[in-house]
Amino acid sequence: MDAILVVNAGSSSLKFEVFAIDGPLQRLVEGQMEGIGTTPKLRASGSDGRKLLEQGYPAVEVADLPGATRVVGAWLRETQGVSLAAVGHRVVHGGPDYDSPTRLDETVIERLERFVPLAPLHQPNNLAPIRAFYQRWPNLPQVACFDTSFHRAHSAVADHYAIPQRFHEQGVRRYGFHGLSYEYVSGRVGEIAPDLADGRVIIAHLGSGASMCAIQDGRSIESSMGFTALDGLPMGTRCGQIDPGVLLYLIAQEGMTAEQVQNLLYRDSGLKGLSGISNDVRDLLASDDPRAVFALEYFVYRIGLYAGTLAAALGGLDAFVFTAGIGENSAEMRARISAKLSWLGAKLDPAANAAGEPLISSPDSTIALLVVPTDEELMIARHTLDLIGR
Ligand code: AMP
Repeated sequence: MDAILVVNAGSSSLKFEVFAIDGPLQRLVEGQMEGIGTTPKLRASGSDGRKLLEQGYPAVEVADLPGATRVVGAWLRETQGVSLAAVGHRVVHGGPDYDSPTRLDETVIERLERFVPLAPLHQPNNLAPIRAFYQRWPNLPQVACFDTSFHRAHSAVADHYAIPQRFHEQGVRRYGFHGLSYEYVSGRVGEIAPDLADGRVIIAHLGSGASMCAIQDGRSIESSMGFTALDGLPMGTRCGQIDPGVLLYLIAQEGMTAEQVQNLLYRDSGLKGLSGISNDVRDLLASDDPRAVFALEYFVYRIGLYAGTLAAALGGLDAFVFTAGIGENSAEMRARISAKLSWLGAKLDPAANAAGEPLISSPDSTIALLVVPTDEELMIARHTLDLIGR
């Protein structure tokens, strides 16, 4: 059957989903190759959760992302009868230029390679499977969907840092990320609550990566993230907003190298660094260790601060939306965060919150509180289908 493959490639894993396009877009398979280059394992399940495969491979066969791409492609073709009409890729950075999903060709791939310095940890991994498909099947349509593009219409004041203009011109801008999630969720908000489609909405994408976005008339106007996906909220292992003076201190006084600072800020900070226990909110909620309690208090406090900032950017607030792993699954965290929004007139309906209903605010709340599951892969599949004109 004709299908679209959606690919999300990280440093040691390749996540994928397959959507049938014979009728309306329909998710068929989801899976991932993990442990690339060390202990590769391919897992896949059907859209109903039924396990289709769990199989290990020799490290030499899946030594890198191109190797993983070959194995996954062959498995889909040979065992699932999938005939690929196109591949849609999640690409972290579209740089200053790409404000929408883009059909890939040699020229576009080369331009995206130029953005590697803007996202050195992610962009090369996103581009590796694109190259692998392109070399093997040059006529197979491929589409890049960017985490940045939903935010590209930000005003100049939202897009700048207060450093000399030449840095902005060379690409040092406040890009914002999680754009595919925000685009999907804001579309769903318009379907669930049409009166909010042209309203002032904050969406909180709270997963292992976390950010918040201010949406006006369905468009992003401000984000808690900036030049990289480090800024803004504290995350599982990332620090979030930090005084740049701290980095100068680490370099000048502690003698840390750029790589050491990078590892500290990306891998050893956030909830993990604060608690010394775990980066996972479930573990912290289950712990009565004071450091776990403090890490969650800090997380909730910072979300409250950013709600104030983004409400100021919007000039008021009509709705606050929870999404991603923490936002979709933890009634406890939603309740704590909602309490921080009470000054904005938010009132939680505890029963609706406990039941995980889409609308969790009480009727006398002045802002709507919503829970909207995100679906970045479906967003990529839709964009890919649009761009191949099927
Ligand atoms: P995501 O990156 O969107 O997949 O979210 C993953 C994160 O969501 C995990 O690291 C957990 O911290 C969090 N999470 C998932 N399920 C729950 C839950 N039931 N309660 C609290 N946190 C959760």
